[in-house]
Formats: sequence, structure tokens, C-alpha cells
Amino acid sequence: MVGAGLAGARTVLELRRQGFDGWIGLVGAEPVPPYDRPPLSKHLLDRPAPAWLSDELDADALAAADRVWLGTHATGVRVDRDGVRVRVDGPDAAAGAELTADALVVATGSAPVNPWPAARVLHTAADAEALRTALAAARRLVIVGAGWIGAEVATVAAAAGVEVIVLEALAGPLPVLGAVGELTRAWWRDAGVDLRTGVRVASVDATGVTLTDGERVDADLVLAAVGARPATGWLDGAVTRDPDGSIRVDEHLAPIAAGTVPAEEPTGHRAATRSRVRVVGDAARRRSARHGWVAGGHWDAALRGPAVAVAGLLGSPAPEDPAPYVFSTQFGHELALYGDPGRGDDLVLRGDPATDDGWAALWFEPGNDRLTAVFTVDRPRDVAAARRLFTGESLPELDRTAAADPAVPLRSALRG
Ligand SMILES: Cc1cc2nc3c(=O)[nH]c(=O)nc-3n(C[C@H](O)[C@H](O)[C@H](O)COP(=O)(O)OP(=O)(O)OC[C@H]3O[C@@H](n4cnc5c(N)ncnc54)[C@H](O)[C@@H]3O)c2cc1C
Repeated sequence: MVGAGLAGARTVLELRRQGFDGWIGLVGAEPVPPYDRPPLSKHLLDRPAPAWLSDELDADALAAADRVWLGTHATGVRVDRDGVRVRVDGPDAAAGAELTADALVVATGSAPVNPWPAARVLHTAADAEALRTALAAARRLVIVGAGWIGAEVATVAAAAGVEVIVLEALAGPLPVLGAVGELTRAWWRDAGVDLRTGVRVASVDATGVTLTDGERVDADLVLAAVGARPATGWLDGAVTRDPDGSIRVDEHLAPIAAGTVPAEEPTGHRAATRSRVRVVGDAARRRSARHGWVAGGHWDAALRGPAVAVAGLLGSPAPEDPAPYVFSTQFGHELALYGDPGRGDDLVLRGDPATDDGWAALWFEPGNDRLTAVFTVDRPRDVAAARRLFTGESLPELDRTAAADPAVPLRSALRG
């Protein structure tokens, strides 16, 4: 088991829950036990201690494993029909030491993108600790990127009285939502955050940011919140990866490409070799019958994927096809996104974003009434309904007019 974050911890616990009584070794690069990441931004200033997963999941993955190496990196792997060999490097393992096993679960998550060494990032508990300390002495914070994490940090920093400037290269905030992100712009303004969109950062230094048009934006502190990429470099040469580092997996979370198989291995053994590997959490790009390719990067997949991966490894495949799901808390609003909004999809609003009553946005495939995604703002009932809508084998079809009426329950808009 390589990676001791949410997906890694959940996999170890699932192995035991599903009756595996063999040996489990857990390798994790961070020197601390598994903890939950979403509170790092939402509770950056009011909850300094990590939210340990042993508390959150009410079970201790470290105790469930036979051997745990924390502060230890996997640096390479070889998989063949005889088993798996993982090279590790850490305080309790000589550099280049090899662990052998019958199967490998990859749960190494993602690493933040940071093109500017002078900027900070927020990905680990150690990053949060350092950012908290720096913020205590800062008057002016520049955040590069108006995505989920940029918005959440802007929320807490502005509420603490820090002057916050957010620089976003694309046209509006929460760019993953396309035009709908623009509907959240007033929240930033009302919170006193100076959100500047359509601006590009050229460089970052100790005193601020220089934009590509030469403008200077001074700051005591700069946070890069411009996304993350799967941390799968250690698998290079052994497992086929997409250009962004993600590993394509099937419904059972087994790698699809034959890159896991050494070239000299006879064709007949390839399936057996590949089935020794599972990829869970942020590192995986999952094939979904309903949504097409689903990238990692979201908590829910790291929570739920391990049950599927373990069932497959133990010989009782139980494919599950959950909808992609993201949640966020920002500027006093509870947000949820189910599904995957396509760029050319039709947009239908449900409720009025200018009021405080809560609203939702729905995306439909152009030319038909198949729903591809639902985004909700302060509408817990729609969150529950959206989860249920995306459980069939294909995308649900909705009556667009009924779905646009916030007084009509979403499930009543379902066709057929
Ligand atoms: C600040 C923040 C806030 C977030 N908020 C939300 C949210 O509100 N909603 C949401 O849906 N998602 C959110 N996410 C994303 C969510 O936390 C991730 O999708 C989830 O943590 C993925 O779990 P994982 O186990 O796949 O990866 P991770 O949690 O990244 O864990 C992977 C672990 O593997 C370790 N590792 C990496 N490489 C190696 C190696 N070579 N050898 C050994 N160990 C290695 C890493 O150090 C890490 O500890 C947030 C993320 C961050 C950073």
C-alpha cells in the first residue's frame, strides 16, 4: 500500500473489513499519520491540529497494517507475474531497499502545481502550519488562482482581517464551472476580497507579484492555488501514465494500459500481472459508463474507491460508478457539484443567484435532455436529489422546464 492519505488509509481498513488476513505494509511520504485535507483550507485559522483520519473514520489504519513506514518515499516499482517489488527510501529503510508483495495499491494522491518558488502552496498539514504562521504576520495576501482552494483561503483570510487580492488568469472565479462561476463574483466583493480576473502572473518574489503586462501587485505573502497533478512520477517506466501523471483505470480501478507489464513477459500472463495493481484516489483517472473519463482530485473518490479496489483484489469484483462529486464551503455558502459539466453543455438555472434563498445550476447535453451535472448553492435537498439522479447506468433525462423551477423537487423533473 503506497500512499498514506485518505485513499491509502481507507484501503487498509477496507482490506481488513472485507476479511483479508494477510500481510499489509503501508508506505507514506509524510512523517505524520493520515489526516483529512479539506479542513486544511476551510479551517486554516480556527482548527490548527490536523483532523486525524483515525478519528474521522473511527478506525486506525496504522494499527490495521502489519508494518508502517512513514516519512518514506516509494521511488520505483516492478510488477510481474510473480509479484510486486517496491523500492523505498526513508529513515527505517535503506535507500533502494525493496519491499515485495503479491499486490500493489497506488494511493499517492497529487502534488500541488507551483511554478513560482517564492510562492507558498497549501496541500499538507505542514503547509497549513507554515501558512498559518506567515498569515499571522501578514497584512496583504495575494492568492494566485480563484478555484476551490483559492476561494476557501480567501474566505478565511479576509474574515481574519487580512487584505486579500486574488489573481485569476481565466475570465471568472471557479473556472471549472464556466459561466456559472461568474455568478459567485459578488460573494468575493461582499467579503472585501479584491478579485482580479483575466490577469496573468509572470513572476513572484519576496515582495509580491509581477503580472505579464508589467503591473506590480505588492504582498507580504503569495499563495499559489493553481491546481494539483497526480504524484505518480515514482511509477515512471513501470505503469503507463497520462501526460498530467494520472493513471487510467477501469471500473475495478485496475490500470487499463499494458504499461504495468514488462515487455519480455508472455502475452498470456499480462492480465494476471496487471490485476496485481489497483489505483485509488487522486492518482486515478477512472472510466465511468455514465460520465466518461473521471479525473481524480476529489475527496469522495478517495473515500469510496478503496472498497471497489479491495473487492477486485480479493476476487469479488464489485464495480461501482459514483458520480464525480466536489463540495466546498466559501463566503458563508455550502456548495456541491455532482457530475462533470461539459464546455458546450446547455445551462439551466434553478432559482435566482441574486437572492439569499439558495440556487442551483444544471447542465444538459446540447440537443437532448440528458443531465450532465448539477451545482448547488445552499440547497441541501438538491444535493441529496442530485446524488440519487446519478446512480443509473446512463445519464438521467430531465424535463428542463420543471427542473428550472426551484419549487419542484428535482426527482419530479425526472423523465421516464
Ligand atoms: C487544502 C485542500 C482542501 C481540499 N478540499 C476539498 C474539498 O472541500 N472537497 C473535495 O472534494 N476535495 C477537497 N480536496 C481534495 C481531497 O483532499 C483529495 O482529493 C484527497 O485527499 C485525495 O486523497 P488521496 O489519498 O488520493 O491523496 P492524498 O490525500 O494526497 O494522499 C496521498 C499521500 O501519498 C503520499 N505520497 C505521495 N507520493 C508518495 C511516494 N512516492 N511514496 C510514498 N508516499 C507518497 C503523499 O505524501 C500523501 O500523504 C482538498 C485538498 C486540499 C489540499
